[in-house]
Amino acid sequence: MFLDQLSVLVAIGFSGASLGITFLTMWAIGRSEKHLLIWSIGLATIIAGVVLFGIVVEHYSAGALLASFLLLIAGFGFLYAGCARFCTGHANWVSAIVLVAISAVLTSAAFALGYSGIGAMIGNVAIGVFLILIARDYWLARAEAPTLMTVNAICCVATAASFIACGFALAEQGQLVLTSRPSNWAEQVNSIMAIIGLTGIGALSLTLNQMRIANSHKSDAMKDALTGLLNRRALLDNPAEIAPAGTAVVMMDLDYFKSINDRFGHHSGDRILKVFAELIRENVRTNDLAARLGGEEFCVIMPDSTSASAAAVADRIRSQIEATVIQTARGPIRSTVSAGIAVRSNGPETLQSLLNKADAALYEAKASGRNRVQISDFSLVA
Ligand code: GH3
Ligand code: MG
Ligand code: MG
Repeated sequence: MFLDQLSVLVAIGFSGASLGITFLTMWAIGRSEKHLLIWSIGLATIIAGVVLFGIVVEHYSAGALLASFLLLIAGFGFLYAGCARFCTGHANWVSAIVLVAISAVLTSAAFALGYSGIGAMIGNVAIGVFLILIARDYWLARAEAPTLMTVNAICCVATAASFIACGFALAEQGQLVLTSRPSNWAEQVNSIMAIIGLTGIGALSLTLNQMRIANSHKSDAMKDALTGLLNRRALLDNPAEIAPAGTAVVMMDLDYFKSINDRFGHHSGDRILKVFAELIRENVRTNDLAARLGGEEFCVIMPDSTSASAAAVADRIRSQIEATVIQTARGPIRSTVSAGIAVRSNGPETLQSLLNKADAALYEAKASGRNRVQISDFSLVA
């Protein structure tokens, strides 16, 4: 072999330690991403196992080899639980603990009966199984980040294959009892694969973690904090864009909202805003975009609509808020809404133009008595 096994083990130990410290530091900063803590505990346990394996390389002892396998199995069990938490939101402690226990009992039993070779086979296969389960979690969660998750799953499967090959090589050589450290082609491949796998999977997992944080900040920046609907920035990302044919814009503004605030307090006003946002959410389709533009102004952009279908939705929301009574300490509150609707004309038209027309229609609805839905004259002609 062009590298001696001890040097490779030292390399695995140092790269694992750097990765573990990085995970731990990142966890310590936020304290919310527990998978980082679970991963760092897993890596610390794996490094302890690697150190013991290094001792076995120098001075073989069945006891040290067993202890090394038990630490590696436990460490990979932690990595599996951490990955499950990262990919699904739940660390599957029960299945991780059951799998670690079964693997540890089988490996220890083989060593106890004097079959250290069989124990090493079981230990290697168990580590391979954990890596395959980790790969499965990344594969099933790949919709979130298809390339990174798939590459991570492939890295896990390749590393798993190198551990399982170690068990296979021992079986192939009929080494049921070891008298020195396992040494064969599979061990050499596994040492290299462990460095590639550890750094590759670690770096990809860190990248995935940072990407998830960035995406969650992006999605928070798009959301209205009070109602959870989109905010103005998210809705009007590019108002100069040509709206597709069939796009309808519904502008809504709660009536006399200032006087509700004045009579019942700002907190009760906020409650109405939340109830109204919920009504909008219940009445629109999944591909409609609903936003709070600011204050008591809301807007829904509806693709594939007609002025009649958009007006039907707006009128349903209007009648539902009219029928809603909110009980407060200062008495019941009722509220109404006025809406203006514009639908794209036959020719190309920007979103901004539709918004202006819907706004003008809303102004008409207000001027002609409020609590009504007004379709833009331009849209009626269209
Ligand atoms: P109109 O029927 O003409 O729409 O009358 P209005 O009173 O609803 O309209 P106006 O624009 O005069 O008042 C809007 C009020 O909305 C004023 C402001 O205090 C209130 N407002 C804006 N943002 C919030 C908010 O986040 N929470 C609460 N509770 N009130 C808000
Ligand atoms: Mg208003
Ligand atoms: Mg207003």
